[in-house]
Amino acid sequence: MPAGHGRTFTVRAGQTVKVIDVEGQQAADFVAVCDADTTEKLSPVHTRRALQSLFFKVGDSLVSNRGRPMLQVLEDTVAVHDANVPACDSTRFSVDFNVDGHRNCLANMHEGLALFGISPQAVPDPFNLFQNGPVTPDGRMQVTDPTSVAGDYITLLALCDLVCAVSSCPQDIIPGNGLRVTPIEVEICTPAERGGCSFPDSLRKALVCC
Ligand SMILES: [Zn+2]
Repeated sequence: MPAGHGRTFTVRAGQTVKVIDVEGQQAADFVAVCDADTTEKLSPVHTRRALQSLFFKVGDSLVSNRGRPMLQVLEDTVAVHDANVPACDSTRFSVDFNVDGHRNCLANMHEGLALFGISPQAVPDPFNLFQNGPVTPDGRMQVTDPTSVAGDYITLLALCDLVCAVSSCPQDIIPGNGLRVTPIEVEICTPAERGGCSFPDSLRKALVCC
């Protein structure tokens, strides 16, 4: 997707979603809902509870607002992502930066999700891939530039049929994207395209959503 824009796409159970930071230091907001019931959606807050962690890593499952696994992290060349802050939206720019009409992740993701009947208010909170949001020892949250370099990626395995949306974060006023908004690439692969890697039995048992 072009710099500062979003895309919405469907993914079937067993397919993988590889999100690539093409040029480096670019946050990519990621949301997903169940294709069969869009009221079940990927939930950072439920995932944090399930993982007992503010962050996630390879092997972790990301769960829905009903506590069910929706995606599993298969690969990650960065290991620095955020699951704690909302998508930037029009209010973030108009209230915090006095800029009206700025592109934003919520609008980028809603643009396509609207075709699936999802209102702006129903767009899930995101997992902010490549976003660098460290938490200090005294509990304060920060947002700074990503550590990702060109070509870094994270691969997520879909555990059920999903509608996903990704936004190349248009934030160019404060650090968060290296003050330079750049494209994000998404590759969707079947198990065969991944080299015949079969769907693990351990994950098949997790195919419970929708
Ligand atoms: Zn954003």
